[in-house]
Amino acid sequence: MMYLTPQKRALGAVFERASRPLTPPEICEEARKELPTLGLATVYRAIKQFLAEGQIRAVEVPGAAPHYESAARHHHHFFVCCECKRLFDLIGCVRGVQSLAPQGFRVRQHEIVLYGECAACANQEGAL
Ligand SMILES: [Zn+2]
Ligand SMILES: [Zn+2]
Repeated sequence: MMYLTPQKRALGAVFERASRPLTPPEICEEARKELPTLGLATVYRAIKQFLAEGQIRAVEVPGAAPHYESAARHHHHFFVCCECKRLFDLIGCVRGVQSLAPQGFRVRQHEIVLYGECAACANQEGAL
């Protein structure tokens, strides 16, 4: 039986309920709702441990800071907001990726990243 500190339990819960990948400061802010004294150093330590245990994975997208998400999430892609720099999950995938590859090539995996403004940022711009 693994011993779970209150810190790790709270941080694990953040990953479970997150609807998008989070940066360490975002994870810290979210977990502080439960543990107000939680420090960012603890968050980084827990991330390292969760990664080693295979509970979470790093999401590395060009033009965005490293984000983390639960490893239980299945295949999906991301939207990067160029204004607030947050990352969002996309629902669904494109069909026919194989047909983009040259004749005789076999696609093993793919990455799709959309860049733009999230709804909140797009609204703000319209209000100016
Ligand atoms: Zn935004
Ligand atoms: Zn896909």
